[in-house]
Amino acid sequence: MSQSRLSVARHRKFQKAMSRFPRQPLIHLPTPLQKMSRLTARLGGPDTWMKREDLTGLAFGGNKSRKMEYILADILGQKADTVITWASLQSNWCLQLSTAARMFGLEPILVLFKTYDSPAEPDGNLLLDRLLGAEVRFQEAERGKSVSLEKGLSHLEAVAKEVRKKGRRPYLVPVGGSFPAGSMKVPLGALAYAQAMAELAERLGVKIGAVVHATGSGGTQAGLIVGARALGLEVKIIGISVSNEKTSFGRLVLDICRRTEEALGLGTFVKPEDVVVLDEYLGQGYGIVDRAVAGALSEVFRAEGVVLDPIYTAKAMAGLQDLALKGFFPPGEAVVFFHTGGTPALFPNRLRLLEMI
Ligand SMILES: *Cc1c(COP(=O)(O)O)cnc(C)c1O
Repeated sequence: MSQSRLSVARHRKFQKAMSRFPRQPLIHLPTPLQKMSRLTARLGGPDTWMKREDLTGLAFGGNKSRKMEYILADILGQKADTVITWASLQSNWCLQLSTAARMFGLEPILVLFKTYDSPAEPDGNLLLDRLLGAEVRFQEAERGKSVSLEKGLSHLEAVAKEVRKKGRRPYLVPVGGSFPAGSMKVPLGALAYAQAMAELAERLGVKIGAVVHATGSGGTQAGLIVGARALGLEVKIIGISVSNEKTSFGRLVLDICRRTEEALGLGTFVKPEDVVVLDEYLGQGYGIVDRAVAGALSEVFRAEGVVLDPIYTAKAMAGLQDLALKGFFPPGEAVVFFHTGGTPALFPNRLRLLEMI
């Protein structure tokens, strides 16, 4: 039965299922939950809150650092000494993985696809990767197309072969850390977000009508959906797509949901209609800063003193504002926006942001 309040019995069962997955503490939990009174007033409702996943305390924070607690525990459990992943040039995921790896004496190797964001100037996350001494290997990719799982994994395998020849033990993990592939056998990143849903429900005493967040590789969304349904909460999880068309991407999110439910072992609760992906805020595509993005970023900074990022969270915020103005959210129910981090991307995008403001 769906409900707006957390049931003690369900919560206990959920926490028991989660406790089977080892977690390496890395971040400050719970992340703050902030009431956005000024933003709420500007929008004329709904009651809007922000879950500050940007304030995890690991490097510049973000949703990848919450995922990293479970992923790092798995890496350490497998006794790896090297971690290999791929992503785009200014990836938040790569910075978070490299940071966590370095803290435990592991070598990070990053395969960075110059997909959308060139030139490769040492700015933003790329600067931070360099300061950590992560080994960076560049690959060219087609503009506007994301790198497929198969292609990404084949690059990781090639690097792993080299690394193994030197007697090292590599751990291979796909971008985003949620789709089980490479050395990661369970959707650990999504499980971390199922736990984030429980953390939110424990703390927010009002009825949550909707959660809105930027969705990119699908793990955050899948985890939030599975967490909500496993806890019996009827909250709508709305993923604002920053890179993908909704139909095929929705299928991927549902696939990760199923794998996450399977890992939890509490049953199958998620219905296909629970996966809500909106792709009308994509603008010109991944990583392209337009007026809607620059406007949302600047407005939230001025109203609330919170800095969003131009690739993910400002796009999702532009979506939330548009939905609120259209009366999409039922009155009397709270809307929680997940600030998933990504702020280092402000700086490589500085000129474009100023142009668009
Ligand atoms: C990766 C990322 C997302 C999307 O999360 P997924 O789990 O990959 O869908 C959202 N916001 C920021 C800032 C990110 O770095």
